[in-house]
Amino acid sequence: MDPPLAPPPPHVIIFPLAAQGHVNSMLKLAELLAHSGLRITFINSEYIHHRLLRHADIQARFTAFPDFRFKIISDGLPLDHPRSSDHFMTTFSYVKSITMQLLEELVSAPDRPVTCIIADGILTFTIDFAGDLGVPVVAFRTISASCFWAYFCFPRMVESGDLPIKGDEDMDRVVTSVKGMEDILRCRDLPSFCRVADLSDWTLQYVPTQTLQTTRARALILNSFDQLEGPAISQIRTHFPNLYTIGPLHSHLKSRLSSSSPSPSSPPPSPASNSIWEVDRSCISWLDKQPPKSVIYVSFGSITTLNRHDFTEFWYGLVNSGRRFLWVVRPDSLAEGGSGAVPEELREAVAERGCVVGWAPQEEVLHHGAVAAFLTHSGWNSTLESVVAGKPMVCWPCLADQQVNSRLVSHAWKVGLDMKDVCDREVVERMVNGVMGERQEEFAAAAGDLARMAREAMSEGGSSWGNLDRLIEDIRSMKP
Ligand code: UDP
Repeated sequence: MDPPLAPPPPHVIIFPLAAQGHVNSMLKLAELLAHSGLRITFINSEYIHHRLLRHADIQARFTAFPDFRFKIISDGLPLDHPRSSDHFMTTFSYVKSITMQLLEELVSAPDRPVTCIIADGILTFTIDFAGDLGVPVVAFRTISASCFWAYFCFPRMVESGDLPIKGDEDMDRVVTSVKGMEDILRCRDLPSFCRVADLSDWTLQYVPTQTLQTTRARALILNSFDQLEGPAISQIRTHFPNLYTIGPLHSHLKSRLSSSSPSPSSPPPSPASNSIWEVDRSCISWLDKQPPKSVIYVSFGSITTLNRHDFTEFWYGLVNSGRRFLWVVRPDSLAEGGSGAVPEELREAVAERGCVVGWAPQEEVLHHGAVAAFLTHSGWNSTLESVVAGKPMVCWPCLADQQVNSRLVSHAWKVGLDMKDVCDREVVERMVNGVMGERQEEFAAAAGDLARMAREAMSEGGSSWGNLDRLIEDIRSMKP
């Protein structure tokens, strides 16, 4: 008699919001789960998918998993239409309706029974819909735990009078209603959506509501680690008993890949980033020629745009600092359109001390010996990448959780400076020289400690390692 067939591996559908930062970290999670033998269906927007999979190395990584497949959906815009942070809202109803249709098809397919859905926590319509289909949903939030917790405390902030913020003169008031973070946050450090006088503002209503609704999911995954955001994580845990803090994901993946014994069928090591842009590696050759710890790396992520005034202030501030710099200026970085060209009188200095590229291999750059510090918009992925690389930061946050993250950098972890809300050449110069000069040793030591804690969390026996094992076990115990 033939031996009984082994049951198929659990099948997980992963569904991110269609934005670089969200897709990047949820793909890392997908890869971690696939590496542990789970069957994965990853729902990707057509626009992102094309840009991602044109890179042969990314394609090779995913085709190496026999049980990994992508399902592609349109985001409702033509492929050549530019994407900004606004398009998520304008195309939301369209994406919601076609995703629900696709989920229904996937869940009813007899050959691949679905064990659970891991959905971007900002898309909570999935929780109700999957509930009707009888499939558990695990929410994944791509933001910091501290920002998630601040959103969660929104009703308390209103009740206590912390919100609404009463104009510019109110911005430095200490916020007392975000438990565990009372000595950290001022109004200015709250998520950017809180900066409205009218509490019925659509975004202000939408984002905290989505956050409160995540409690209806089976569990919550955060891309953070316990030692990094202890105060917020322990508060969140009181509302989410099934909380898995498994970050920093980009590095956790590498840690797992390098610890498992190589076999002929194992996928190639993960590259730096799931980048939807064309990476310009010329900056690595440029960095190779610079002295150790002499360069400040400048990048404002994948969607932030700067106006002409801010661009000019950064150009002058960087040049006047006298430091070497590597700046990522995306082709769409200037809010008004056109290029953020170097002011004429700075050209010579920029050619001498600067390198400008459209998109850099950021993780590799941050680990380069010539890079001393990072001038960042404080996106959560960038922040985590800098933490892992042990690099001090100068923060210039623009939106969403970036306001909170930059405050963690300057006041909780003390690994850098926060220039929030001021963009002026003298401030840029002072901040850059702060992290590269006067306070360099202090910040570098604190950043080194943080990097060590991150490594411990992602090593066997560490908190993120253990939490990922627990997540995989829990998924295995769910019945399709
Ligand atoms: N990134 C990159 N090269 C660049 C600029 C950014 O690879 O030149 C990557 C970076 O490593 C990070 C992501 O883009 O993983 C940006 O995510 P983040 O959450 O920091 O910011 P967002 O783009 O969502 O605002």
